[in-house]
Amino acid sequence: MNSVTSIPSANKSEAFNLQQPGNGSAGKTMKGLVYGGPGILELRNIPVPTILHPTDAVIKITKTTICGTDLGISHGKTPTVLPGTTLGHEGVGIVEEVGAAIRNFKKGDRVIISCITADGSCEYCKKQMYSHCENGGWILGHTINGTQAEFVRIPHADNSLYLVPPGADEEAMVMLSDVLPTGYEIGVLNGCVQPGDTIAIVGAGPIGMAVLLSAHFFSPAKIYMIDVDQNRLDLAMQFGATHAINSGNEDAVKQIMSETKDGVDVAIEAVGIPDTFDICQRIVRPGGHLANVGVHGKKVELEIDKLWISNITITMGLVNTNTTPLLLKTIQSGKLEPAKLVTHRFKLDDIINAYTVFGNASKEKAMKVIIEA
Ligand SMILES: [Zn+2]
Ligand SMILES: [Zn+2]
Repeated sequence: MNSVTSIPSANKSEAFNLQQPGNGSAGKTMKGLVYGGPGILELRNIPVPTILHPTDAVIKITKTTICGTDLGISHGKTPTVLPGTTLGHEGVGIVEEVGAAIRNFKKGDRVIISCITADGSCEYCKKQMYSHCENGGWILGHTINGTQAEFVRIPHADNSLYLVPPGADEEAMVMLSDVLPTGYEIGVLNGCVQPGDTIAIVGAGPIGMAVLLSAHFFSPAKIYMIDVDQNRLDLAMQFGATHAINSGNEDAVKQIMSETKDGVDVAIEAVGIPDTFDICQRIVRPGGHLANVGVHGKKVELEIDKLWISNITITMGLVNTNTTPLLLKTIQSGKLEPAKLVTHRFKLDDIINAYTVFGNASKEKAMKVIIEA
């Protein structure tokens, strides 16, 4: 894997000095983490975003974080992210300015920024499939400038922000931007986890941990956690996994098949590589569910010749964030404690270092990193 580097010379920076919608021109500047092409990240002075449409809001970021997706972008895994884009799609902040059409928020409100932008009115939004909003979806830090900056412009703000309840833990709220709804919707709900089920989560990174934390809502009997990182497995056991398998040392498929009658009810893929998908398709029992959460950059081989007879269901997808209000309530009630996923804290000035630490998660024992803007 490439390591993340910054550009020391100003000349190179000009090569990706693209003007993006949402970059203001009032002359005020701020710091933002800008993608400069595969392997190139730089904390740069960029224009403070301004309101472009009446449905926009500008948010002053207080806390943001780095997602595995951002790491993938930094390595060039997501070509739809153009050089010059400010990265980041997660964060909490304070409303700085609202467009004329905004009804739900006002200057000074403390808000959670959803990783998914939704206009609330298109055909997909009407079905609560915000991930495919015709005027939004995953655009932050993707096709428009994102949250790893001092300020961010949020389009369709009325449907894309959530109020932070008074007294709420800000770090826990950051986990509501993406990691928790993704784990819960694409892992637990798509996987149809039921009381008494035996489930396996392949991948004990932040998303796998979010699956683990939210799977407890449905009281599965056994939760296998599979990873190659012993530290992450130990953490998973603290977070309520019942079995841990280090697939670097032992054959996870063999072990699960020998310890269960005929496999697991739900196999959840939370990495995004062919090997982990393979484990899932070999351990799911007849009638079971394989829920893919990981972001894949390569094809996988579906063993349909073996699986066709097993009556299994395979699901995959991008988070809709329609469960964010529900998850917010469970955090407020104390039933869900996502803040325990936070292992490291950095200032925005030090974000390049934060990428390096997050990129070496195993060595650094890193799970979620908080960036304070
Ligand atoms: Zn993310
Ligand atoms: Zn929509």
